[in-house]
Amino acid sequence: MIKVQFKDGQQIIKKICNHCGCDISDLEIEDIMVKKPSDMRVYDKNGNEITRTELPKELTDCKCETCND
Ligand SMILES: [Zn+2]
Repeated sequence: MIKVQFKDGQQIIKKICNHCGCDISDLEIEDIMVKKPSDMRVYDKNGNEITRTELPKELTDCKCETCND
């Protein structure tokens, strides 16, 4: 799942294991952006339009290597 923290005024977004809660990887804001029906067009940092309306399962349901065994 995704965890958002604020540290020293910085927003830190991480992908963490749903099972043990350990950090799997760091994410960028673009990685967790979704388009809402009311939104204008949204783009990621590479200029690609974001059209997904929900987060991919790989971000909401994560297992670290240890829990995957
Ligand atoms: Zn785990």
